[in-house]
Amino acid sequence: MKNMFRTGFLVRATHTVLTWVITLILFVHNTELRQCEERGELTLPVLFFLLVVLSVLLYFAVSLMDPGFVLSDTVKPSDLETESMVPQSSTCRLRRCGFCLLQPMRAKHCPTCSRCVRRFDHHCPWIENCVGERNHRWFVLYLMVQLLTLLWALRVAISGISPSATWESWFSINAFLLAALCVVAVFSMVVSVLLGCHIYLVAINCTTWEFMSRHRIAYLRECSDEDSPFDRGVLCNLWDFFCVCGAVAWEQVYRRNPQNPV
Ligand SMILES: [Zn+2]
Ligand SMILES: [Zn+2]
Repeated sequence: MKNMFRTGFLVRATHTVLTWVITLILFVHNTELRQCEERGELTLPVLFFLLVVLSVLLYFAVSLMDPGFVLSDTVKPSDLETESMVPQSSTCRLRRCGFCLLQPMRAKHCPTCSRCVRRFDHHCPWIENCVGERNHRWFVLYLMVQLLTLLWALRVAISGISPSATWESWFSINAFLLAALCVVAVFSMVVSVLLGCHIYLVAINCTTWEFMSRHRIAYLRECSDEDSPFDRGVLCNLWDFFCVCGAVAWEQVYRRNPQNPV
């Protein structure tokens, strides 16, 4: 638990420092934002700043939020102790782990968090938290805001690169800006791919875990390859995901009708 806090703290601190260092670089160099500022037009710089603040706030919200840990009503202190004594090698088969004897459908035990997570999607090392039923929509919203921030930052960084007579002086003048540009470009690509995948999976109402490990999941093994038992149509899936609050009682979802158990 202490280790987890430390990794979580480190990752969050790295994200925050990186974000603000890059923002500072963009404002210090002669970028279009700086030029706006010097002309006294503050709308764009303020908007950019607010977008960065929003992305950081969403990052922390998603990172610190309860992803939908399965409540351990029946857990006893003695169970907690035995759970921590279970050897690592047995974590791959945790259908009946010490925390969640009744594991709801679509839940999965996360070895990193040592908890079962409702409608488990994946454990994200960058937010050092699981993505599950409660924070998945916020995670996708965060990815959208983050991508918008990154693409704007990319544009600003490119606008600030100053020309120079020789390559050497060009590199030394633009060193920080080029470094920021590289980081922003790499993250833009990663976040684009991630967001694309998540929107696709949300549209077919499938989690990353279900998509990657279909053959290992009992309730999906019975379905044919193209069949997604939770799919209610793209619009319905998107509406349920983004607009309907509250948890689905997965405990009460049985496999009586494997075609459409929801
Ligand atoms: Zn568990
Ligand atoms: Zn986790």
